[in-house]
Amino acid sequence: ARKHNGKNGAKLFDPLIASLAQEKLKIETYIEEGLRQDWFDVHLQPIVDLKRGQVAGFEALMRLNHPEHGVLPPTDIIRVAEETGAILRIGERIFEKAVAHLARLSSVPGLENAYLAVNVSPLQFCPKLPASIFATLMKWGITPTRIVIEITEAVLMHHSPDIRDILGALSGAGMKIALDDFGTGYSSLSYLVHFPVNIIKIDQAFTRSLTDESETVRRRVQKLIAGIHMVAKEMNCHVVAEGIETDAQLRALLSLKVGRGQGYFLGRPQPVGDILSGVERDEEKCVRFSARIPL
Ligand code: C2E
Ligand code: MG
Ligand code: MG
Ligand code: MG
Repeated sequence: ARKHNGKNGAKLFDPLIASLAQEKLKIETYIEEGLRQDWFDVHLQPIVDLKRGQVAGFEALMRLNHPEHGVLPPTDIIRVAEETGAILRIGERIFEKAVAHLARLSSVPGLENAYLAVNVSPLQFCPKLPASIFATLMKWGITPTRIVIEITEAVLMHHSPDIRDILGALSGAGMKIALDDFGTGYSSLSYLVHFPVNIIKIDQAFTRSLTDESETVRRRVQKLIAGIHMVAKEMNCHVVAEGIETDAQLRALLSLKVGRGQGYFLGRPQPVGDILSGVERDEEKCVRFSARIPL
């Protein structure tokens, strides 16, 4: 490839850029075909009330079930969909499926009031969003109070005047707003001042540091989480710790009095059918995690 480099550094043909462009094109094709052929779905991951050892809600995580390539994870798809604008159509499709799944799960004892947390990307925050969300909820008979809108700090960085109004409308209808991946971007604290946040999701990097090999790191992150917990309490926010992978992390979070948690240790993201058949097998016919949670 070097011979293609001109003296001024301009490249007639850069294989890396070409392969990235090809990759992007491939994903664009998956997206369009996926929308046409209904390959998009959501997996649900439990969010557990750590004190009670019960499921409080589920996070809806997008998956694209490609017939040849299997289940594709969301990050690449979302990045491309945000560039092309397809995220709007995907977002509506995903929300509809997630709400339908919640309606099905609501017949399970103990899950009647479970909430559904959906990730909403910055570009979806257009003035039509609330009406579209309300219409879907009406269709499935789900009350807005069972919906959590997860936003990342990137949403708020856009600072469009729309975003405040839209968040206000959603929150006014009883939906909760969760600040996702808290603590990894900038200005996170000022968002708590300017936006109606109800839930703070502690980024999985902090959860991981709770079992860091360095004792200093472990002690510091404990203090940090204790601090977030105090701030959250003052702001009337719930705290959810993300990315709990081990028993040791769970115990550390319990001793820090963190109220809710999510992670592979408590439950992987799963298709709704698997959750329902897991409940069937459960003797108590009730989704409980007490076996794993020292009460
Ligand atoms: P997120 O909202 O922070 O979601 C949590 C991510 O952590 C998910 O990755 C989940 O599968 C993963 N996770 C859960 N427990 C554990 C654990 O114990 N350990 C580790 N290492 N990871 C864990 P996933 O499903 O690949 O999604 C990645 C990101 O893509 C999400 O991060 C969210 O920002 C975005 N995303 C997912 N679905 C949607 C969607 O429907 N719409 C939009 N706009 N974004 C979505
Ligand atoms: Mg999320
Ligand atoms: Mg997160
Ligand atoms: Mg994330």
